[in-house]
Formats: sequence, structure tokens, C-alpha cells
Amino acid sequence: MPSEKDGVMIVLSSPSGAGKTTLVKMLSEINNFEISISHTTRQPRPNEISGRDYIFVNQENFKRLIKNEEFLEYAKVFNNFYGTTRTPVIEKLDRGENVLFDIDWQGADQIKNKKLDYKLVTFFILPPSKEELFVRLSNRDMKDKLIADERMKQFERDLLHWINYDYVVINDNLDKCFSKIKNLIYAEINSDSKDYDREYIRSHVDRLIS
Ligand code: 5GP
Repeated sequence: MPSEKDGVMIVLSSPSGAGKTTLVKMLSEINNFEISISHTTRQPRPNEISGRDYIFVNQENFKRLIKNEEFLEYAKVFNNFYGTTRTPVIEKLDRGENVLFDIDWQGADQIKNKKLDYKLVTFFILPPSKEELFVRLSNRDMKDKLIADERMKQFERDLLHWINYDYVVINDNLDKCFSKIKNLIYAEINSDSKDYDREYIRSHVDRLIS
């Protein structure tokens, strides 16, 4: 049984372009919510700082961390490795801090299967429509339309994993989506009733698939 004093693990996953990273940053501004900083073998983007956005490592160091069993979870995403080291997460949770994970469905599955002694709440963020997603992905990768096309294909594969999450939230408006997630987290922490309509989500997913 998770202890009331311990922090809660909050996982956010989404297909690329649904706005998850922004939502994680917004949530991290709430008192007592901390982002888990992942290790990755991908190259830093121009505005990224090692130790703040990711801990950037080479393949050799990543493999050493795997061998030493330091990862709570790790996965290969778009040809790069990403992973969450166990110790910083457990230290935060034991101090009563809530930990936010911006990780993909593979990592979410691994954490779920570990059945750790901490409360875990998982969210899957979806775009309002495929058309809107394509616009967002095209704006992001203007130089390379092929990347946007490839990520749309990936979107359809990633979408199938929505079923394994506690909550699926549609990001049609950033502030509303943020409030929805925040309210669900507090409802979970306080064991209150949840304002959540799974049937509506199911029909939204059906529309995205068709
Ligand atoms: P990006 O390279 O765009 O920052 O992230 C690509 C994907 O990798 C995103 O879906 C992100 O959530 C996921 N990711 C980032 N860190 C981790 C991690 O530690 N573990 C796993 N499984 N996925 C991660």
C-alpha cells in the first residue's frame, strides 16, 4: 500500500505533437511537483541544456546504466534511447514530492508493471483532430515535410496504446487541458470523485482512427 506521506508518480505520454511537454512544464510549476529528468542518447536541440531538459549521454554510457540496472524504465524512441534512472525518482517520492514523467508508452508500461509501492496515475494526451496534429507537426518541422508525414504514421501506431492509461485527455485548449489534468491528479490524491467520461474518449479515438 502506498503511504500517504509519499509523493505520487504522474506519467504523461502522447503521440508526438499533442503538447505533452508544455503540459508537463506547466504542471511542474505547481508546488511540490517535480519533473523526472531522463537520460537520452539523442543530440541536444539548440535550446536544450543538459541536466535541465535531459541528461545527454553517449550510447556507451547509456548501455553502462542498463548493465548496472540503474533504470526504472528505458526505451528506444525514434532511433534514440531514453531512460529514467531509479534513484532520483525514489528520493523525490520518499521526500513527499510528486514526480512527473514525460515518457512514451513503452516506459509507462514498464513503470506500471513494476508495481512500485507508490501511487501511480497515468495520462495519455491526444490532439483534437488529425488535421490539427498535422498542422502542429508541419509547423515544427517546416524544413522537412517527410518528418511530419513519418510522425503522422507513428501517431496512428502510438494511438493504439490509449487503452492502457488511467486517463486520456484531449488537448484542444492548453489551459483547459492543464486544469483537467490537475483536477484529476488532485482527485486521485484525495480519493475524490473524478470528472471523466471514458465513453466520450472512446468515440474521440474512433474518430482519430477513421
Ligand atoms: P523528444 O526527443 O522529442 O524529447 O522525445 C521523444 C519521445 O521520447 C517523447 O515521446 C518523450 O516522452 C519520450 N521520452 C523522453 N524521455 C523518456 C524516458 O526517459 N523514457 C521513455 N520511455 N521515453 C521518454
